[in-house]
Amino acid sequence: MSRASLAERLEAHCAQLAACRRCALEDPAVVPILSEARAPRAMLIGQAPGKVEIASRRPFAGRAGKTLFRWLERAGVDEGTFRERVYIAAITRCYPGPSPSGRGDRVPSPREREMCRRWLDAELRLIRPALLILVGRLAIDAFLDTRPLSELVGGAHQVEHVGGSSLAIPLPHPSGASSWVNRPANRALLDRALARLGDELARLGVTSAARRGHARRSA
Ligand code: SF4
Repeated sequence: MSRASLAERLEAHCAQLAACRRCALEDPAVVPILSEARAPRAMLIGQAPGKVEIASRRPFAGRAGKTLFRWLERAGVDEGTFRERVYIAAITRCYPGPSPSGRGDRVPSPREREMCRRWLDAELRLIRPALLILVGRLAIDAFLDTRPLSELVGGAHQVEHVGGSSLAIPLPHPSGASSWVNRPANRALLDRALARLGDELARLGVTSAARRGHARRSA
């Protein structure tokens, strides 16, 4: 499939996704949040958008996104390049509402995850990504297994799915609701995961313009 036809097919896919109202989420007026990338070779899969994402209509636009994009800078990719080159998907695409505990957002139910999976599967079939970046427990569970994050983060895992085979790099969720990343041993695992992610993104040609210039100058 040519890159142009992939862009057209992703446009058509996103138009259908934008109209989806399949599951009864907290607020029926909420609409799905869409990725901006149209010729990607990598996909990032998160959990679900929050309030800030709904207001701005952009994935990872809130506080968790700021942390995520700081991590990605450490992997050598600025936010603009990443949004343009990597397709940002999620386990569910609409805001699930606040958590009943009042802390953070509600975790999408298994039924909502199942209802929304068709969109993710369609994207995997269209993009056939070489690289999957799995952000947080729900995305990791959907492709890897239920081992603790400390046994998965820092590694790279070959996974099979409806779109073929991809190298999957798991990351913890960057929301402040998770304290996992604050433990020193886990910070070292995150460092290792970001170094590996930087290598894999560079292999796909996804690097910041400044870094590409530096590489050219030092060649
Ligand atoms: S969460 Fe997914 S399946 Fe449910 S309405 Fe939103 S896009 Fe559709």
